[in-house]
Amino acid sequence: MLEAITSSEQAIALEDKHGAHNYHPLPVVLSRGEGVYLWDVEGKKYFDFLSAYSAVNQGHCHPRIKASLIEQAETLTLTSRAFHNDILGPYEKYVTEYFGFDKVLPMNTGVEAVETAIKIARKWGHEVKGVKENEATIVVANNNFHGRTTTVISFSNDENARKNFGPYMSGFINIPYDDVNALEKVLKESPNVVGFLIEPIQGEAGVVTPSEDFIPKVAELCKEFNVLLMADEIQTGIARTGSLLAVCGNCTCEGHCERQSTYVKPDLLILGKALSGGVYPVSAVLADNHIMNVIKPGQHGSTFGGNPLGAKVAMTALEVVRDEKLAQNARKLGQIFRERMQHLVEKSDWVTLVRGRGLLNAVVIDQPKNGDVAWRICLALRDNGLLAKPTHGNIIRFAPPLVMTEEELHTCCDIIESTILNFK
Ligand SMILES: *Cc1c(COP(=O)(O)O)cnc(C)c1O
Repeated sequence: MLEAITSSEQAIALEDKHGAHNYHPLPVVLSRGEGVYLWDVEGKKYFDFLSAYSAVNQGHCHPRIKASLIEQAETLTLTSRAFHNDILGPYEKYVTEYFGFDKVLPMNTGVEAVETAIKIARKWGHEVKGVKENEATIVVANNNFHGRTTTVISFSNDENARKNFGPYMSGFINIPYDDVNALEKVLKESPNVVGFLIEPIQGEAGVVTPSEDFIPKVAELCKEFNVLLMADEIQTGIARTGSLLAVCGNCTCEGHCERQSTYVKPDLLILGKALSGGVYPVSAVLADNHIMNVIKPGQHGSTFGGNPLGAKVAMTALEVVRDEKLAQNARKLGQIFRERMQHLVEKSDWVTLVRGRGLLNAVVIDQPKNGDVAWRICLALRDNGLLAKPTHGNIIRFAPPLVMTEEELHTCCDIIESTILNFK
């Protein structure tokens, strides 16, 4: 029987004793969520300002997504792809029309979708572009985060993520982020490049936001050199940054992209996290036929990928984003948030910078190397009813669910402001 949890200390002690220590969570034990709110086991209420790394853009336990999950759970959950099921086809039609691609390859977790995109790009490179077998190369950015598999950590430059997990996968070239010239140089020198894998904003690196014209310029270069633009929108996609996808830039379409001039269409679009509304792992790679058709039966797959439960949940999660105009809300609230934080930057010695787009934002805390100021600020925020977590020591990411109201956002900004102004 499951041990009943009656206190935070008890839950934390159990995790410490019985679970691998691969995370360092903020000490708070959550037992319930609804919309933008979370409650801990003692009953204290918090604003969620992490949204499970942008997986719960639609808010906790969204009633429509929950209803979909329950309905499908009572009907059919898993068939494997050995047989067809009656949800996968309608979901595939829905998701491809939603994002404007011919085809989707369904997977489960984010990193699986990244791996899938890498496999498609390599196969396309060898079979369509004509690169000699085993020589396909993929260009990636420094300080990237694309997940935790052995291949993906091979091209990470975070020592903690990488060290002693070798031998590493070859076939990747790292260049600085937001550096069009570096990309052009590599593409000129290396005819074997088949893809450029990029986060439109680097979330884990601390919401590092590139110049406005970075993605459009990168897209032009990829076209010129016949290289696939692989957009990892696992964290930035699905309305988080104030447009349906971060590659949409300043597109002002109604959530559904109308292919405005600022829109860049990647060759491979990688989605995860909020694709499921934070309910059940669902990820996907989208591409047009001339790329996706390199994958033939038996060449790639996953037991749970495309299962009816996940497909149903994902379809509803996307409907919620569109019906509740979450991209527009994220854009509007994001501007307010950054304005309020800018005031804080001027008033506080602790906060030196605010950056981000839509509701994916971060503040940089002035602290000595290896200091713990940002961590202690997050503890103080927790005590004042708001949950956020530092990344890379001195950066605090602020990414609430996109269903937040303007009034709630102001309340949250008040909490952040008074916490930091009173911080010692
Ligand atoms: C979270 C994330 C991933 C990995 O997703 P998992 O579901 O944790 O495997 C990959 N890329 C980006 C940009 C992410 O934010």
